[in-house]
Amino acid sequence: MLHVVAYSDAWHQELQFMRPTLVRRFTERLGRSVVTNVRITVDRSERPDAVEPEGGTATVRSIQLSAEELAHIEAAAACADPELSQSIRRALVREAQLRNWRLRHGGRPCSRCGVPFRGDTAVCPACQTDGRAV
Ligand SMILES: [Zn+2]
Repeated sequence: MLHVVAYSDAWHQELQFMRPTLVRRFTERLGRSVVTNVRITVDRSERPDAVEPEGGTATVRSIQLSAEELAHIEAAAACADPELSQSIRRALVREAQLRNWRLRHGGRPCSRCGVPFRGDTAVCPACQTDGRAV
């Protein structure tokens, strides 16, 4: 059993979808069935001050990404497994759309992790509490 904690609903949903592929890939890579199941949970508490959309996800999904953002996503999602590649691409597009939405709605990027949050400090609350903040 492998336990994966997702920090957003987009990744949670995508990882659920990717679960059979992940188990198969682990077995292929390790040569035997070491990982037989993947448990995926979501933990939003890591980002206590992250700005969340109020009007549901429809407005976030309608956000157009720039050519530069799409190029980054294509590069990051490039992988030999087309199924996995498509899942990564979808999750990254959603993350980028949510990031843009947050920046347009009062969020400022954390100087350390880059996640948009509301506040007067340079780093987000999650980075402040993990002891590695500057
Ligand atoms: Zn941060």
